[in-house]
Formats: sequence, C-alpha cells, structure tokens
Amino acid sequence: MSEFDLINQFFKTTIVKRNDVLLGIGDDCAILAPPANKTLAVSTDTLISGVHFPESTCAEDIGYKSLAVNLSDLAAMGAEPAWASLAISLPEANKSWLQGFMQGFNELAEKHNVSLIGGDTTQGPLSVTINITGFVDSNTALKRSNAKAGDAIFVTGNIGDAFIGLDTILNKSKSDQKPSGFFIDYCIKRLNRPQPRLKAGQLLTAFPVAAIDISDGLMADLNHICKASGVGAKLKIDKLPLSAELMHYYNKNPDWQRILSAGDDYELCFTCPENKLSEMKQLMRSHEIDITCIGEITASPGIKCFLNNEIQSFKLAGYNHF
Ligand code: ADP
Ligand code: MG
Repeated sequence: MSEFDLINQFFKTTIVKRNDVLLGIGDDCAILAPPANKTLAVSTDTLISGVHFPESTCAEDIGYKSLAVNLSDLAAMGAEPAWASLAISLPEANKSWLQGFMQGFNELAEKHNVSLIGGDTTQGPLSVTINITGFVDSNTALKRSNAKAGDAIFVTGNIGDAFIGLDTILNKSKSDQKPSGFFIDYCIKRLNRPQPRLKAGQLLTAFPVAAIDISDGLMADLNHICKASGVGAKLKIDKLPLSAELMHYYNKNPDWQRILSAGDDYELCFTCPENKLSEMKQLMRSHEIDITCIGEITASPGIKCFLNNEIQSFKLAGYNHF
C-alpha cells in the first residue's frame, strides 16, 4: 500500500463533515472559515510509543487517546473543538492497525464534532502528533494566570486512577505477578480512554477562573497555575476525590505522594472566586458534572499540603521528559 492509498483509505474517509471546512484533505492545505465573532484556540500534543502509552497499547486506544489529550487542552481553555490535523509516523503500513486507530479516533471525533482536515504520513517509529483548533472568546478563556488569593481550588471527577493502570501494565511486562480484578480494569480504562472535560471547561467560561488539565500530576499542574498567577496554594489532601476502585487498590490507605504526582487522568483543576462559588456549583450540578473543592489559593507562593489540618512534606513531583 502506498502513502497515498493510506491517506485515501484511512484518513480522507473522515466521518465528521463541518460547514466551516471549505477544503479538507487532498490539497496542499486545508481551507477553513472560522466564525467572525470568535478567536481560535490552538494546541499540539505528540504521543510516542513507549513514552506516552505502553508499547502493548492497542491501535483503537492509541487513536482515541491521541485525540483525547488534545481535546483536553481545549477543555482546559474552555474552547469548543472544531478541527484536527494528524501527523503520524508508522513503522509499517498495517491495514488492520490503521483501521483500529481510526476507529478509536473517529469515535471521539464524532462525539465532539471534530473534522480531520489534513496531516502528514511518514514511515518511522510509531509516533502520533495532533494539532487541534477550537473556538473561544479570548476575554473568557480559562487562562492559567486568572487565579487570585482566596479563590477555592477544584478538580473534576477523580484523580490517581490512570497512574495505577499504567503502573500495572508496566510491571506486568517485567513479571508475571500482577494485581488483577475489576479495579485494575477500571484504572486501565481510565489510562487508555480519558474523557476530555469539554463541557466543564465551556461552562466555566461564565466565571473568572484559571484552569489546567491534569496531564503531569495534580501538584505539578496546579503549580503551573500558581506560577502563572503569582500565587500559592493550600491543598487539603484528605479532600482529594478518589474512586472506589482506587480505594480498593490502596486497601483504604491511599499513597498520597503517588496520587499527587500521578499524571494521565485528564481531569480539570480550576479555581473559583468566593462570590461565584454557589452559582458555579449549581451550574455544574445541573449538568451532572462532579467537582470537589480541594483547597484554596494563597497570596504566599508555593504549594502547602495538609492532611487533616496537619502540614505534610510531599514532594512537588510530576512527569518531566528531560
Ligand atoms: P504534501 O506533500 O503537499 O505535504 P501530502 O502528500 O503529505 O501533501 O498529503 C496529501 C493530503 O493528505 C494533504 O491534504 C494532507 O493534509 C493529507 N494527509 C496526509 N497525511 C494525513 C494524515 N495522517 N491524516 C490526515 N490527512 C493527511
Ligand atoms: Mg504540497
């Protein structure tokens, strides 16, 4: 199969058609018509085999997750997704692998009305780069620099699950001994199939909040908000939302350091001023989005962690490529 057969068979057959794509896959560039009253939010994420997903990950999950992590960046800005381009490097032209990859990709693209508008296909070690564009109002975008002392800090959903999924898969390849059971299956699903929090992000644009998606670890990512806003944070560790599955895994005795530095959950961490709390909470409740208050922003810099009101000395660790 040639490079062009690949493009025609797997990428050009993209399912989502949008009116704002004037010219899609097939020419030297795509031509797009953004709405007149909006600004664009643009982001890129690369996923490399063995770094961002275990080598054993199936094609469907890689296709799904590649788009999910990019959509998560739009969610963290409060943007509405529109277009994606896909630069993929493949060791070989394997039809069934590509079919699976695009099935995972299209599942999420359809759900969020994202058109695949172009890309690049090369041979090499497996690596996927997606560039995503969405629409956002620049005045209400959820910038990291929006946090103020006294704001409450929230997270959506639960945290810590995906890391246990990853840890289990990596240790399984080293030894035959591995924990198993419903809670492990759940954590692996959380690793491979993150749900980008687009609705939550879009709803939050009604409030003056700072937000970030948790890709490298709660503490490391919250620290980005603190640095960008020139503030610090007080985290109440005992308030962190943990799934029943994670509690089962830890035998009701959570490893807080690990949970604070666990990446890959793609939940949102955001701040909210005191006088907007009840309105914001009610809006989230009416859309059935689970959020938990886990602390507050402080004027003094640095992140301080408390467990039942006692200060703790957790390390500010998160994933770092270098
Ligand atoms: P060029 O040589 O002009 O860069 P290519 O031959 O690489 O163009 O690609 C032909 C068309 O196919 C272009 O419209 C490009 O955007 C699209 N394309 C190539 N690879 C992909 C891909 N992996 N996903 C989506 N579109 C792709
Ligand atoms: Mg060209």
